[in-house]
Amino acid sequence: MDLKTDVVIVGAGGGGAVLGLILARYGIDAVIVDQADGPPHGLRGEILQPNGQRILDQLGLLEHLPSHAVRPVRRFHFRSPGGRRLCTIDYDLLPAPYNRALVTWPNVVHQTIVQALEDLRPGWIRYGTSFRRLVKHGESIVGIEAEQHGRPVRIGAKLVVGADGPCSKVREALGIRTALHRYREGYLVAMLTCREGLEEAQYYVGRRTILGIFPGAGHRVYVLYMIPSDALPQLRLEGIDNLRKRWIAIDPAWHRTFATLEDWGQTAFMGTGRVRAKTWVSDRAALIGDAAHGMNPHASQGRMQAMADAVTLADVIRRCAEKEDWSASALAHYERLRRPQVTMLQRLADEEVMFWNTGNPVLAWLRDRVFATIDRNPRLQYQVLSATAGLRQTPPFSWLDRLQAAGLLPDPRAHSLPTDIPAL
Ligand SMILES: Cc1cc2nc3c(=O)[nH]c(=O)nc-3n(C[C@H](O)[C@H](O)[C@H](O)COP(=O)(O)OP(=O)(O)OC[C@H]3O[C@@H](n4cnc5c(N)ncnc54)[C@H](O)[C@@H]3O)c2cc1C
Repeated sequence: MDLKTDVVIVGAGGGGAVLGLILARYGIDAVIVDQADGPPHGLRGEILQPNGQRILDQLGLLEHLPSHAVRPVRRFHFRSPGGRRLCTIDYDLLPAPYNRALVTWPNVVHQTIVQALEDLRPGWIRYGTSFRRLVKHGESIVGIEAEQHGRPVRIGAKLVVGADGPCSKVREALGIRTALHRYREGYLVAMLTCREGLEEAQYYVGRRTILGIFPGAGHRVYVLYMIPSDALPQLRLEGIDNLRKRWIAIDPAWHRTFATLEDWGQTAFMGTGRVRAKTWVSDRAALIGDAAHGMNPHASQGRMQAMADAVTLADVIRRCAEKEDWSASALAHYERLRRPQVTMLQRLADEEVMFWNTGNPVLAWLRDRVFATIDRNPRLQYQVLSATAGLRQTPPFSWLDRLQAAGLLPDPRAHSLPTDIPAL
């Protein structure tokens, strides 16, 4: 072996970097390899939900996010194209201090995490290093082989963690059976300059139409626009002018902001997929984040869940290290703790895909009726919000709640917020 460590983490993204940082603080030796040349710089929309804020706070990093790049947003208005308000989701229903979403400039959360790790363990992240295969002694995994700038490197480890995203090569090498689903729609993300003074998030939901406008710090706004996954080439062919017109047709109120979209360089495309790995652990190996459970961005939880995995797995690793037991049964505690919330969120996101992305007039009618009920019913609003905020493990709606949300049954408890608001 060229190198020896306790834990080798493949992927220094949303989950891998957090895991590396916590292991460093626990005094557990790790090496993180990432095929990219450095931390990501590209455009991506980023909303930090309450559970993500809490994790960063516990890591002592929330206060280190650069204030000029972070904006708290409390209210999200769902509207029909044209501007009619359907529903307002108010984060003030949640317990303080995380009763808000934080909209951040691209990658600032990640840069803050990577910087903290770099300060503690300079050089732990090895960029330009791609995972190639697992190294085994007999049946037992003893490390990985990677390629660094065209040269093979062998890294010996007691545990290999696949934090290498939805197309995980580590998962493939472990032979873990996985159901992969590509959604028909993806998102065009753009970062524009706000001309109208946007204070609260606006989310337009129509027939096969979704346009989100989220206020960021320093007069910036993120625009999130749903398009069919294969439609980007055609959209580009039609020109940027045409794209602006499409957005103005959804709500002309923001035409001055949309006018700041001048070229395709201000946009990025986000494909969407779902990953369901049969198991997240095997002897001497584990998967975290999108490698284990990529989900549709409607859940607004991808990064949060990757970070939550990292926190939980780090604790399990500490116990494994104490007992010198890296077996699947020792690691399974991590999966047992994490799977319920992830499964619930994947299902919730899929339901939202079905109702929000729809072109079917009956489903769209039902969806708008549910929005209208949620707007008047703080109890149901809290149930939905607490799921998106990452505060609950169980589905937000029972069958009775669904009938009430659809307006088919009255809800005598509409104004009684749950007394068992989960502690953050
Ligand atoms: C455009 C965009 C916008 C998004 N916006 C949001 C949002 O607003 N909120 C949210 O919660 N989530 C968002 N997500 C999803 C979120 O980014 C992911 O869910 C989260 O980053 C998952 O973390 P991860 O560590 O599992 O994977 P990633 O962060 O994708 O990290 C995987 C890492 O593995 C590396 N890697 C891959 N293959 C190899 C290999 N063979 N060898 C070595 N390294 C490898 C990659 O270079 C990468 O750094 C967005 C995603 C995209 C693409």
